Amino acid sequence: MGASSLRRAVFLDRDGVINRMLYNPDFGLLDSPQNTDQFDLVPGAPKAIRLINEMGFVCVVVSNQPGIAKGKYTPAILESVTDKMHRLLAENGARLDGVYYCLHHPEALLEEYRVTCDCRKPRPGLILRAAADMGIDLGASFMVGDGLTDILAGKTAGCTTILLGNRKCEMCQMMDEFGIRPDVLADDIVQCAELIGSSL
Ligand SMILES: [Mg+2]
Ligand SMILES: [Zn+2]
Repeated sequence: MGASSLRRAVFLDRDGVINRMLYNPDFGLLDSPQNTDQFDLVPGAPKAIRLINEMGFVCVVVSNQPGIAKGKYTPAILESVTDKMHRLLAENGARLDGVYYCLHHPEALLEEYRVTCDCRKPRPGLILRAAADMGIDLGASFMVGDGLTDILAGKTAGCTTILLGNRKCEMCQMMDEFGIRPDVLADDIVQCAELIGSSL
């Protein structure tokens, strides 16, 4: 396949980018939704994804989901959460072209998922697999996330990286320790989509 026939993509992290994180009082941490009731979109997500669709990008979720490996929920629950994500977005005219999850964890409770894989971000395996499946030009694509691991995975895959967060970039000091900085900072996912549009 020649470079000209390759498509451009926007890769999106899921938790904290498309759906809200939840406060888990047991651990005093923000956590991923554990069931469909807890799954709720970030307010700007449908609009942003619609813009990404309209600009002609392939829009693909790349997300670590070790909850099955940790015994927190079942594969069927993850599937129904994914179905809800597609449905809520479709109700608002937005479309995801692919959803790639890493289900592994090096310290998984369930042995079948207990591996050091090539797809758990910060490794780039999910992005590379999606690119191979869908014919994506990674150098002309974007990786969007709210965490260090998203930026690392995107950089390793050769994408332009966009970190969602405030302009002060609370995470940038930590990133400096890893010698890494996102290419672009965006306040939220809508501004992120607009920045991608303005670069075309
Ligand atoms: Mg996240
Ligand atoms: Zn994996």
